[in-house]
Amino acid sequence: MKITDVVCHVLLAPNYDPGFTSSAQDSFLVVVHTDEGLQGIGESDVNPWIAKACIEAPGTHTMGLSIKDMLIGEDPRDIAAIWRKLYRGSAMNGRRGAVINAIGAVDMALWDLRGKIEGLPVHRLLGTKRPDKVVPYASLQPAGDSFEAYRDALCASAEKAKSLGFKAVKAEVTMNGPYAHSGLRESYDRHTEVVAAVRKTLGDEVTLMIDVQYLWEDAATCLSVVRDWAEFDCYFLETPIWVDYLDEYAKLAAEAPMRIASGEWLSTHHEFEALMDRGKIGVVQPDVGRVGGLSEARTVCDMAADRGLTVVPHCWKTGVSISATAHLAWVTPHCAFIEYLPPQLCLETLRKELAFEDFTLENGVISEPSRPGLGFELDWEALEAYKVA
Ligand SMILES: [Mg+2]
Repeated sequence: MKITDVVCHVLLAPNYDPGFTSSAQDSFLVVVHTDEGLQGIGESDVNPWIAKACIEAPGTHTMGLSIKDMLIGEDPRDIAAIWRKLYRGSAMNGRRGAVINAIGAVDMALWDLRGKIEGLPVHRLLGTKRPDKVVPYASLQPAGDSFEAYRDALCASAEKAKSLGFKAVKAEVTMNGPYAHSGLRESYDRHTEVVAAVRKTLGDEVTLMIDVQYLWEDAATCLSVVRDWAEFDCYFLETPIWVDYLDEYAKLAAEAPMRIASGEWLSTHHEFEALMDRGKIGVVQPDVGRVGGLSEARTVCDMAADRGLTVVPHCWKTGVSISATAHLAWVTPHCAFIEYLPPQLCLETLRKELAFEDFTLENGVISEPSRPGLGFELDWEALEAYKVA
């Protein structure tokens, strides 16, 4: 079997708002075609025009080859060999960042394809270890341009997540800092007020995670606020400080009253090695597409296991990436939760219309995916409707 074509799709919801903090308003899909008619589909969370250029740009020298050209003619079942070929062949332009994010979509597509070739769900191909269950957490990102509107929208979503049966919820409490929503500039005390309100809404039974999206510049300022959050029993605190400040992460990990989580933006296991060993984080959050695909995500999970760390993958895209994340979780016993953007709780058109997962949520856990490949159903009409390049 040979790869005959690699087609990139840039998707954008017509109602997208560039001021809204959500990367699920666009999508980058790669479809890998073969001479036997089967195709694999992958996605990545990166500007889709940039990712398309990463795949389609012509090569100009031996360490800057065309990713698309490197794929054509390869046997798609040799996933490890293909990953190495793409990584090495694009090294002068890539090694990290957007090129790896784009390779991640290709790798996801190759795993989907291999599952279809072998007639097995991808998790059966990834490994033999099994968790007792895979627990999704509802990722709640409120819209609201005032403190009160933000707090109330978040509590309303938390209430709804609870009624949908979620056993865990993550609240984005970001009313200041680089990721602040709708231009909000609220005090740290008000962040504490929101955390308290969400915890009160959820009661004691539901696990609560907090994401402040790089709110603080250093560990000391962060600690001066989050020491008071011990009473809210937060499972983890996500990306409290800027992603590159690894020594500050290590200080936080030693002193904060909850686990520290990070990793959503990182590409390759090399970046995660530094985050784990120097940043000393407790919860490792690879995003399957961005880190370099299921192949690289699995390596990161193995490294986390070696260090006794918990994995909770990041995922803020459509049913394609959510499916890949679920398959990863089915072979990762130390994956405590997966991030899940439930269509009933989100505003993003593509999340609601593009792809439908091969699992259901019941009693707070997801069922085992059983269809060949990644198992999602893609709505090709939606793809055509939202395709802009
Ligand atoms: Mg986050």
